[in-house]
Amino acid sequence: MSYTEEVYERVVAQNPGEPEFHQAVKEVLDSLEVVIERNEEEYRELSILERLVEPERIISFRVPWVDDKGVVQVNKGYRVQFNSAIGPYKGGLRFHPSVNQSILKFLGFEQIFKNSLTGLPIGGGKGGSNFDPKGKSDREVMAFCQSFMTELCKYIGADTDVPAGDIGVGAREIGYLYGQYKRIRNLSEGVLTGKGLSYGGSLIRTQATGYGVVYMLDEIMKAHGDSCEGKTAVVTGSGNVAIYAVEKITQLGAKVVAMNDSNGYIYDPNGINLDVVKDIKEVKRGRIKEYAQRVEGSVYTEGLGIWNIKCDIYLPCATQNELDLEGARILVANGCKYIVEGANMPTTLDATNYVMNNGVLFMPGKAANAGGVATSALEMAQNSMRLSWSAEEVDTRLHSIMKDIFAKVDDAAKRYDMEDNYVVGANIAGFEKVVDAMKAQGIV
Ligand code: NDP
Repeated sequence: MSYTEEVYERVVAQNPGEPEFHQAVKEVLDSLEVVIERNEEEYRELSILERLVEPERIISFRVPWVDDKGVVQVNKGYRVQFNSAIGPYKGGLRFHPSVNQSILKFLGFEQIFKNSLTGLPIGGGKGGSNFDPKGKSDREVMAFCQSFMTELCKYIGADTDVPAGDIGVGAREIGYLYGQYKRIRNLSEGVLTGKGLSYGGSLIRTQATGYGVVYMLDEIMKAHGDSCEGKTAVVTGSGNVAIYAVEKITQLGAKVVAMNDSNGYIYDPNGINLDVVKDIKEVKRGRIKEYAQRVEGSVYTEGLGIWNIKCDIYLPCATQNELDLEGARILVANGCKYIVEGANMPTTLDATNYVMNNGVLFMPGKAANAGGVATSALEMAQNSMRLSWSAEEVDTRLHSIMKDIFAKVDDAAKRYDMEDNYVVGANIAGFEKVVDAMKAQGIV
């Protein structure tokens, strides 16, 4: 049995009931095989892989709060501090009923490599709660956030662990969380990113993940003599990442014809009117089906199946495992040429293998959506310096970080004779820096 297989079996045995975590570890270890074989003796001696798959710390806590009816509610809260070899833990907080330790461990594990790829000094972490902000009043969301932060504030800090938003955690939640942190710790510091502009936030942070996904797509296309101009795209989700991916890809000349939410999808052959989507999602916190009621010529379909819509470019920007083998086969059959992951692990392993074996250029989320965390690190830098950069300055830095990530991923794939295999390239490029830092710091 190879070293990577041994470690994978150990992960499965020691982390029962955590399928998402197993899946993320398997994907990374499989694609690192070529690097690990070359350095097996040294890595075994230092137990590099055994240490890499074990979080440095997991904090799990009770979050009691009172709803609008006066009833006491109790949720689970977590922070997974996975790896701090290259800097303070950094990664989002997710508030969604599906949140559990397995999902946060998969996200925290992926975050290590993603953060490494940005070239910035940030380690990997992730956290959240099974709290569902949907349908809650602002007061209920505030009560929850204050209770969550009352416990979390003991474990985070500008130089220790700097959470950000993720699914279900946007500007409103970050504001309430930050207010409570400051109140308890009496510190105005960059302990959270994604903050509002009036209290330390960075311009372009809201747009960063979606814009970064499209900057990455643009690099891939350029490297293959192609461009977005005149292409048809499908972008899944209709949250933060999806909205700004649509904005940027439209600016680059592609037409986005479909988006979705967890209830169903809209198809608009004339090209999605993003102002309407923003109004539904960012202002009214409504459902995507309202789009079809507001825009003539568009159609809403309840349920799954957005992949049935023919496109050249598919940007999955909703959630993990949203694209399975069946959907992947249909995309390929319909001529899709590019899949760039805006969400974290939205494509199942067999779907990933299928599209890569069938001529699709596929960029994994850990490289493609790294613009969000990179811009969070730019927010941390601005907070430390007590100044704010202009939107142009942040956007220029974001753009150059995404170009740099593409170059690293492309180079790593080529160095191991796997040109265009960006899954391997991203994992290797991210892994090399983390391992270097772990080796230098001894057995910790
Ligand atoms: P949001 O909460 O803003 O949006 C998520 C969107 O996905 C919503 O439209 C949601 O619909 C939809 N969705 C959720 N589950 C499903 C499903 N099963 N099928 C179809 N649609 C679904 O989250 P973000 O946009 O911030 O995050 C999206 C993804 O990007 C996540 O994987 C996240 O981890 C990743 N990411 C986010 C970053 C960021 O900066 N925000 C950075 C890097 C990665 P509904 O309203 O119905 O739930």
